[in-house]
Amino acid sequence: MATIRLERISKSFPGVEALSGISQQIESGEFFTLLGPSGCGKTTLLRTIAGFYRQNEGHIYIDNKLIDNVPAYERNTGMVFQNYAVFPHMTVFENIAFGLKNRKVPSSEIKKKVAHVLEMAHLSGYEKRTPDQLSGGQQQRVGLARAMVIEPNVLLMDEPLSNLDAKLRVEMREEIRDIQRELGITTIYVTHDQEEALVISDRIAVMKAGVIRQVGTGWDIYKNPADVFVSSFVGETNFMEGDIKGGAADRINILIGKQTIQAKVPKSGNIKGHVRIAVRPEDISLVQNRKGSTVSDLNAVNEDSTIIEGKVEKNTFTGPLVRYLIGCGNDIHLIVETHKPEQAALIHVGTSVFIKIPVSAILCFDPETGQRL
Ligand code: ADP
Ligand code: MG
Repeated sequence: MATIRLERISKSFPGVEALSGISQQIESGEFFTLLGPSGCGKTTLLRTIAGFYRQNEGHIYIDNKLIDNVPAYERNTGMVFQNYAVFPHMTVFENIAFGLKNRKVPSSEIKKKVAHVLEMAHLSGYEKRTPDQLSGGQQQRVGLARAMVIEPNVLLMDEPLSNLDAKLRVEMREEIRDIQRELGITTIYVTHDQEEALVISDRIAVMKAGVIRQVGTGWDIYKNPADVFVSSFVGETNFMEGDIKGGAADRINILIGKQTIQAKVPKSGNIKGHVRIAVRPEDISLVQNRKGSTVSDLNAVNEDSTIIEGKVEKNTFTGPLVRYLIGCGNDIHLIVETHKPEQAALIHVGTSVFIKIPVSAILCFDPETGQRL
C-alpha cells in the first residue's frame, strides 16, 4: 500500500499542454478514478505516474519519497491497458509469469504466485491456453493478473473495460472492485464512463483540458457539482437560464421567459442578475391533475416546488424508467424521468401535463464562469 502525491504536474507535447499544474494526494488503499472526456489528459497523467513520461514541471512522491528520477521499472507500479497488451505467442501462465521471471523469482515461487492470481482473476484451468483461445473479458483478466502478480504498490488502469461489451463491462467492474478491496492496493483508474466511475471509485477526479475540475466521492460530484462542466459530464442535467426577480426569505424567483421558477438562495447568498440553473431529470415529477386545477391553484398549495404546465414532446421507454421530453414554452424543454412505469400510465406525445420541480433540487451557476453559486 502506498500514498501518491502529485505536486503541480505539467506535461506538454508539441503544440499541446496535456496537463496543467495538477496537484493531488491519493490515499493508501484508495480506489481513485480519473474521469473526463477523450483528450483531457487522463492517459498522460497515468503514464507520467508510471514513469513512461517525464513531466515538464512538478514532482511525484510515492510514500513521501520523491520518484521523479526513478525509472518506470523501479517504481513498482502495475499497469493494465485498454487493449489488454497480452503477449499473443505465450500461454496464460507464461504471460502472467513474465514479470516474475524478469525479476529472477525462483520457479517454485512463480508457480505459487501465478496460481494465486489466476484464482483471484477467475482464470484457474486456463493456464495452458493462448490469448487467441480466450474471450476479450478473459484476456483482460490475464492483463489484470499479470499486473497484480508482481505485487505492486500501485495499480494503474487505463480504460481496462472499454473494449468489452456492455454486460461484461458491468460484471468486470464489480470484479475489479472486489479484487482491489481484497488486496487493499492503491489504485488509479482511468475512464471516460461516468457511471463506471460512480460505481467503482472511492473518489473521482473530474478532468477537463489538462486540469482537475473537482475531486470528491461519487455522491459529492453528482449531488454537489462544482461547476457546469462537472454537472453536465456526470449524469444528465436540465439547464435553464433566467433573471433573478426577488423572492421570499430563503428563496429566489428566477424568471425564464414568462415562467417563474423558485430556487433556494444559493450558498454564496447575495446574487443578482442573470443565473444558470440545473435540475436532474429524476428530481422532476409529473403531477396528477384529476381535479382540473390550474397551474396557479397547484402552485398555491405546493410551497416547496414550482409547478409548470407543459406538453409531452417525446417519450422513451427504457425498461426500468420512462424518459419524457416536456416542452414548457419559453424555449424550455425538460427531460423528466419516471421510475417503474405502468403501461396504462404511459403518457402519449402531445398530452398536456403538469410537472413539479422541487425548490431544493435546483442548483445555481454563474452563467459567465460556470462556477456554482
Ligand atoms: P485522454 O487519455 O484523456 O483521452 P491523453 O492523455 O491521451 O487524453 O491526451 C491529452 C492530450 O495530449 C491530447 O490533446 C492528446 O492529443 C495529446 N497527446 C497525448 N499523447 C501524446 C503524444 N505522445 N504526443 C503528442 N501529443 C499527445
Ligand atoms: Mg486515454
